[in-house]
Amino acid sequence: MQFSFLANTRKQTQKQDISSKFTKRRGYTTKISTKFSKYNIISSKRSTSITKVLKFDIRILQSVSNEKMFLNYVQIMKPFWKTYTPKYWTYFFENYIDVTKSDCYTGWQNFMRKTGPRTNNSNEAFNRVIKEVMTDYRKLPFEDFTQSVLDELRRRSQESCALLQFPTSPLISETLLTLSQCLANSFDSYFIEYEGNYFVKDKFIVCSIYNPDTGKVKQKIKKLASKIKNENEEARESFLEFYKKPSIRSIQSFKEANHKIRAHFLTIASIRQLQLNIVEDNNDLTLLSSSCSCNDYWNHKVCIHLIALLIKEGHFDAQIRFKKQKKRGRKPNV
Ligand SMILES: [Zn+2]
Repeated sequence: MQFSFLANTRKQTQKQDISSKFTKRRGYTTKISTKFSKYNIISSKRSTSITKVLKFDIRILQSVSNEKMFLNYVQIMKPFWKTYTPKYWTYFFENYIDVTKSDCYTGWQNFMRKTGPRTNNSNEAFNRVIKEVMTDYRKLPFEDFTQSVLDELRRRSQESCALLQFPTSPLISETLLTLSQCLANSFDSYFIEYEGNYFVKDKFIVCSIYNPDTGKVKQKIKKLASKIKNENEEARESFLEFYKKPSIRSIQSFKEANHKIRAHFLTIASIRQLQLNIVEDNNDLTLLSSSCSCNDYWNHKVCIHLIALLIKEGHFDAQIRFKKQKKRGRKPNV
């Protein structure tokens, strides 16, 4: 079983916390704390904690929208990591960044996945089924093997089709709809069209309406949305403060993504690129085939930016409420 990098990160950083606390108690000055800041790293000033910087760097790596930016940010964070946690840097680099190493189980694409520890249990279970059900632990000729995999897939597909109820329309939360509608109302002040794509800028690189631990919409975002719905002007303004219209120059930098200066990187990495793919007379397909480069889109396949763009262009009606179909009959006792 392999836990993903976040689980490992936590383990490593916890270790560091413990060791620094230990040295503080004994009255020694740690090498790390003297190098990093004049304040002790376990003081109440949490902003000076190395752990926090590492966590933030990892969150940025997970949020950037292309591989070039990912590798650029690795170069930017490298000096800090190498100075303050050299061993951990080597470990992290070999296991999660350097794809040329055989035991590296990630790289840029895996950073785009949802946060939180994951296991490879599903793969193990799949292998077990292949061995137990399909081949009965026998070595089969390749043709027979592929045929048995095909048969099994067919059987499972029919089985699931009979059991599962597939949703017929996307489920989009009311919070998301309200906020998107609000952004769409001021579309021209925040979005810009450039070479066939649309661009908008978030206030932060790591910007999400979802709680990374639970995967649900953050409580404070929900509250903000309900205030906006009740036409609270203050709430509307504070929501729109999160967005900015990017300049053409910064969009060009974003597309090239070859800037290695930290400050400049931070400005261009918060730009979101939207692709509108209009399917004639089919707004559902337009929604499904259009995309955004933000973290929320990668994790949930919808985001505020994309819905706002679709509303503005007339391919989405925020007044429609998608609801789950209710099952007929009595509820099961289970
Ligand atoms: Zn987006």
